[in-house]
This record gives sequence, C-alpha cells and structure tokens, in this order.
Amino acid sequence: MGKPKIGIYGLTGCAGDQLNILNCEDELLKIFDIFEVKSFVMASRAKDESVPLDVAFVEGSVSTEKDLEELKKVREKSRILVAIGHCAVFGGVQSMYMGCEAWMERYKKVYGKEDAVTISPPLEPRPLSAYVKVDAVLPGCPIEKEPFLKMAGLLAQGVIPKNPDYPVCAECKWKENECLLLKGEMCLGPITNSGCGAICPSHNIGCIGCWGPIEEENFAAGIALLESKGYTLDAVIKRFSIFGGTERGEKLAKYIESVKGGCNG
Ligand code: SF4
Ligand code: SF4
Repeated sequence: MGKPKIGIYGLTGCAGDQLNILNCEDELLKIFDIFEVKSFVMASRAKDESVPLDVAFVEGSVSTEKDLEELKKVREKSRILVAIGHCAVFGGVQSMYMGCEAWMERYKKVYGKEDAVTISPPLEPRPLSAYVKVDAVLPGCPIEKEPFLKMAGLLAQGVIPKNPDYPVCAECKWKENECLLLKGEMCLGPITNSGCGAICPSHNIGCIGCWGPIEEENFAAGIALLESKGYTLDAVIKRFSIFGGTERGEKLAKYIESVKGGCNG
C-alpha cells in the first residue's frame, strides 16, 4: 500500500483554513511524508488532478456555479471528503440569516445588478453538505492546528474522525472559568461546537459561535435563556446569526415567523 493520496482545495472563503494547514510549520514535513499531496494550490502550483484521492479537504462555501462544479469534481474522485472550516461546514458568515428579504435582492443592492460579477454566476452561499455527501467535518473559523493534525493522523490510519458532540461550555468548565452568563455577559457557549478550548470565555469575552451550532442545539431554549438575562430578541438574533450558517438561518426564519408573525430585518 502506498501513501494515502490527498488534495486540499478552497472554494469561496478567506483561505484561512488552508493557511492554518501551512502554518503547521513543525509538522508540515511529516504531513508531506505521510501523505502524497496531489493538489494544494496555496502551497504549490504543481498539481495532479488526474488521480483518485483517498481524502479531499475542502474549505469555503459553495457561492458560485464554479464552486459547485469544482466541488462535484472533487467529490467524484475522492473516497473521503472532509469539510474544513466554518464556510465549508455551515456556509460561513456569507450564509448568515439576514431577515426575510430574498438573497438575490440583497445581492443586487451590493452589486447593482444580477450579472454584475462575471467570473462565475453567483449562488446563494451554502455549505458543502447542501450539494454533496460529506464524510467528516472540522469546524472553526479558521480551523485550529491541533484538531487538524489529530484528524489527519486518524485519516492516515483509515479512521473517519468524528467531532466531539459537546458544547464550548464543557471546555469552559474544564478550565474552571467563571460563567460569563452569570456575570450578565452574552455568550453562545451552550449552543456552539467545542474544539477551540473555550478560548474567548477564558479571556472574559463572550463566545460568538465561530465553531458553528452544535448538532442538536436547542436554540429556542438558548434564545429564551439570553432573553431572561435581559437581552432583547433582536440583539440575540443578531448574535445567533453571525456564525449560524444556512441551517440555523432557516430555523431562525421559522422561529421569528412564529413569535413575530413576520421577518426580522
Ligand atoms: S462562559 Fe460561556 S462558554 Fe463558559 S460556561 Fe458560561 S456560557 Fe458556557
Ligand atoms: S467565538 Fe466561541 S467558538 Fe469561536 S473561538 Fe471564541 S469561544 Fe471558541
């Protein structure tokens, strides 16, 4: 058996996840030793797209027809597809809930007309899973080095990694932080994926949810909890929206419709 063949790709996003892979400076040679890297444009222009891949890591949301075309090609030739970073896993801030105005109306407000951007026709930004099967995810905005290396190590052994299914609050408690909610600060720890080590609350800053919503978030209870702390529904919705992504955006739209009888925005 040869080395597992991998490719690292980027769709619409800031490229921060690919950059953080490159930032694994001490471990980079090991990564290149364990895997046969067939495509990683941020690291090298030399690439070979002609061979099937064992693992493809894809960052960025699907925001254009070109993104979608590329994603489908990568999916087709890869045994395992891993979505890395908030944009790929949830849709990114570009997919946040923005009220009930249709996406294309907002697009035209920014660009003036529907076909203003000519590189590739735009699509409403969505995560990879909206279009293709995703085998594993690594959230984060951007991803962190340690969870990436752990995931790469498991994949090298043929194991498909699974993310922890507990929220930031768990990591926060392990660090013995005083809860910010009890001090009257807004914090999305209870409904946010763990993995960052509760870095913000550890510095007395409320979580804004950049690791994305936990799988079984009880977001109605989360909203009620923050409202009970004195925050207005609009302020809570704003905080929930930033890193909520496509799926939470849909949930928020239904929730707002049910409590306000119309949209918020
Ligand atoms: S500070 Fe935030 S993350 Fe920490 S326990 Fe409280 S709500 Fe959870
Ligand atoms: S915003 Fe929340 S999820 Fe993001 S790094 Fe801070 S504590 Fe972690």
